[in-house]
Parts: sequence; C-alpha cells; structure tokens
Amino acid sequence: PELGFRGRRALVTGAGKGIGRAVAVALSKAGARVTALSRTAADLDSLARECPGIEPLCVDLADWDATEAAVGAAGPFELLVNNAAVAMLQPFLRVTREAVERSFDVNFRAVLHVSQIVARQMIAQGLPGAIVNVSSQASQRALRDHAVYCSTKSALDMLSKVMAMELGPHKIRVNTVNPTVVMTDMGRINWSDPQKSAAMINRIPLGKFAEVDDVVNSILFLLSDKSAMTTGSSLMVDGGFLVS
Ligand code: NDP
Repeated sequence: PELGFRGRRALVTGAGKGIGRAVAVALSKAGARVTALSRTAADLDSLARECPGIEPLCVDLADWDATEAAVGAAGPFELLVNNAAVAMLQPFLRVTREAVERSFDVNFRAVLHVSQIVARQMIAQGLPGAIVNVSSQASQRALRDHAVYCSTKSALDMLSKVMAMELGPHKIRVNTVNPTVVMTDMGRINWSDPQKSAAMINRIPLGKFAEVDDVVNSILFLLSDKSAMTTGSSLMVDGGFLVS
C-alpha cells in the first residue's frame, strides 16, 4: 500500500546494520529522501552502494557535540527513527560504570538530543512530523542480566510519552515499537545459546522470535499517516510476550 513517504525527508539512526538498515532501505524504496546515521563508515558505504540515493551520516551518538553538529547540518527532517542502541548485558552485581554510561548515552540521551534537534527544525519550518523510538519488550519486563538495558528502554518509553504530550500541539507524533528478540547482530550475540533462546521462545505465545520485517512494518505504520491519530503509544512486536 502507498504509505505517503514519497519525497519526505527521513533520518534513521543506527542504520548501518540490522533493523535500522532495513528501515532505511524500506523508506528509500518507498520514495523517501533518507539520511542514514551510523557509527561504522564501512557499513554506511555498503548501504549507499546497495541503495543509491541514501545520504550517509557517520557519527558516534555517544558524542553529544559531534551529534549536534552532524544532525543540525543534515536537517530538516519530517520523519525520525531513533533506532541506534547498545545491549551490554551483565549480571546486576557486576554492572560496570562504563556499561551504564555508554548505554544511557546511546540508548537514552542521544534519543532525547537528536529528537530535540529534529523537532526544533520541524517546528521552525512548520512541518508536521512523526518520530518512532525503537524500544523493546525489555522496557516492561525484567530480564536476567538486562538491568541496564531494561532501564534504558523503560526510560525511553517514558521519554516518548512526554515528548508526545509536548510535541502534539506542533503536529509531531511520537510512538515506540517494542520488539521481542530479533536475530540481528545484537540478537545473535545475546540469544544464540539454544537453552536461553528456547526458554524465551517458550514464553512467547506465537512461539517464535520476531523477524526484521515485522519490526520494519510496524515502524513504517507509525511513521505514516495511517496512524495519524496515534501518539504516545507503544506498539508491541513481541508475539504476545508481554501478555503471557
Ligand atoms: P544491531 O546491533 O544489529 O545494529 C545497531 C546499529 O546501531 C548498528 O549499525 C550500530 O553501529 C548502530 N549504533 C550503535 N551504537 C551507535 C552509536 N553510538 N552511534 C551511532 N550508531 C550506533 O542492533 P538491532 O538492529 O538488533 O537493534 C536495533 C534496535 O532494536 C535497538 O534499539 C535495539 O535495542 C532494538 N531491539 C533489538 C532487539 C533484538 O533482539 N535484536 C530486540 C528488541 C529491541 P555499529 O555496529 O557501528 O556500532
């Protein structure tokens, strides 16, 4: 179906690999003018080869000043997908300062900062907009070794609600998607142990992990005018995990 992305300007973070990369490709194929932000230049080079027309933006979102300069110069955008994140799993008693800082810098602080920059430009240009923040089932359930990751995603869900409240009057919608495990690099690193993954799959009513496309489709829906009256909500892409 035509989702109305033709000619619209979109920024996708964490677009070098995994879900973010697939979102950037899907938006570009749907006619959007896509800027793909990520950390590793080689990933952006290969994305630009795969999908000519995508504008690469190489920046480490943990670097506040570099992010401000890069994103500020690349806008304005009408669509924003805050997808970049890290998952540094550690047992609670062995959580390190480095993991806390890096995780909150990338998964939470950068989302707030990039959204501020983009929303200010939307407002200045009088553009209506849509922001989708990629959260997780882990925002709403305790998972072993996920103390920091769960907390960043929980904070992200609440940030998204307050953003929805304050940006609504400017015609900017803000929603989250909350997937279960997806076998991207992040998923493989953390869920390849067959015993661990079987225990998780057993708790998912649909009996499987999510595919990248399941997440992409939900993000596209929330970016599009098909969800024109939806803001401040979290769309579970979790096979029913959270109701089980
Ligand atoms: P991947 O690790 O496969 O990809 C993450 C992308 O984000 C990479 O391109 C990575 O670049 C980029 N990135 C990470 N840190 C930074 C940074 N500091 N600055 C710029 N770019 C950065 O992850 P997924 O695709 O699996 O995850 C995407 C989103 O989905 C995340 O928000 C994640 O929390 C969420 N999610 C994932 C699940 C899963 O099981 N996979 C489940 C639920 C939610 P580089 O590799 O160069 O660092």
